[in-house]
Amino acid sequence: MKVCKFGGTSMANAECIKRVADIVSNDDAVSCVVVSAPGKRAKNDTKVTDLLYACLDKVNDGLSPEEAFKPIEDRFDSILKGLGLKTDFKVYYDEIKNELKKGATKDYIASRGEFLSAIVLSEYLNWPFIDAKDFVRFDDKGNFLSEETNAYAKAVLHGVKKAIIPGFYGATGDGTIKTFSRGGSDISGAIVARALYADIYENWTDVDGFMKCDPRIVDNPEVMELITYKELRELSYMGANVLHPDSIFPVRKNDIPIHIRNTFNPSAKGTMIVSSKKFFSGAYERKESTVTGIAGKKHFISINIEKSMMNNELGFARKVLEVIEKNGLGIEHMPSGIDTLSVVIDGSNHDEEALGRIVEGIKKVCQPDTIDLERNLALIAVVGHGMSRKKGTAQKVCNSLYEADVNIRMIDQGSSELNIIIGVENKDYEKAISALYKEFLS
Ligand code: ADP
Ligand code: ASP
Ligand code: MG
Repeated sequence: MKVCKFGGTSMANAECIKRVADIVSNDDAVSCVVVSAPGKRAKNDTKVTDLLYACLDKVNDGLSPEEAFKPIEDRFDSILKGLGLKTDFKVYYDEIKNELKKGATKDYIASRGEFLSAIVLSEYLNWPFIDAKDFVRFDDKGNFLSEETNAYAKAVLHGVKKAIIPGFYGATGDGTIKTFSRGGSDISGAIVARALYADIYENWTDVDGFMKCDPRIVDNPEVMELITYKELRELSYMGANVLHPDSIFPVRKNDIPIHIRNTFNPSAKGTMIVSSKKFFSGAYERKESTVTGIAGKKHFISINIEKSMMNNELGFARKVLEVIEKNGLGIEHMPSGIDTLSVVIDGSNHDEEALGRIVEGIKKVCQPDTIDLERNLALIAVVGHGMSRKKGTAQKVCNSLYEADVNIRMIDQGSSELNIIIGVENKDYEKAISALYKEFLS
């Protein structure tokens, strides 16, 4: 039995939705189907989720809910027309506009894309609609409650043969709508797969599978046929955003493989993502290679701290981390040397004032010899289980980047033996990815 999730591009317009309907209705093994809000129909188009965020901003700037919500109504009306559905969506539109008048939250508004998208598919297929707010649970701060969710999901989905369920959102105990972070419908699909003990979680998107490298940087990278949950998490967290990095957690509980498939090319093999247990049991075959994939992201900031004899000073790292924690910033990596410690934070969405307070705070409590900020740092992850069994991977990384004339600003292997993280300047990012791809994967 399968649980399927269809992403935004698969739900983008009536033609795409007809494909989705074909796929699920021609496969008896398909049980519940989780859907995203309609995504981009073309490169410069806007996803419905982004239209909804913009709609709320406009209402907050004084535009009437009627006018602000119009672009979303138009998107869904054209889908209904294309599918020949006569369902009256006015009741739903009115309810949303009413909530906008009463001061709707950002999460509630964002969730309506998935809600309406699921109603559309449920009407078109004539399958029942089950609302995610009835089983996906969050606390008041918006933290996902995994075990509570699983208990509710099992109860709500018990005995359900077929259903359409909206992704991306759930609710607190009092019914207040909360969403996951962007791309979160992948997590919703995994929650449903876990609750139903599905044999497989099919995640349908717009590419042939998880590629060894970002297809926007390297032309036609090969698709990985098989990777482990751990490899996937390293790669997706580092920017290969085909699948949300947190979507492995629910399925991992019941050892359910995830199969990435292409809605627009269903005959492609796709990518299987399995537990390490399954992977190393020999049940699946993979051509042995040192590196499985490469991914990366730009715009990190490294806080570089230097102090002689730092390693003799008990609690030095703790004091640094405490200052950062108090100022509300998360950390990504922490490479260190004998007299140096660097803390890397995500600079794409950071609070500049908090960063200033952190520098001052570290100066005060740690009295470093020097402290400086290194901006414009890009991080690249070279990932693969094969690395632990093979000597010289780090050396190859360094050589290939040297030959490509890229200066390495940071290197961090951590303890996972599954990845090496390399920091380069933003401007060298694409060049570095291409060089590493050539070295390990082409
Ligand atoms: P969906 O709307 O189906 O959830 P997403 O846009 O979230 O799809 O994810 C699919 C996209 O991820 C692809 O269209 C591709 O541009 C991008 N992508 C980034 N890195 C990779 C990679 N390593 N392999 C495949 N796709 C990737
Ligand atoms: N629609 C949401 C987003 O655009 C969730 C998703 O697509 O998974 O992020
Ligand atoms: Mg996605």
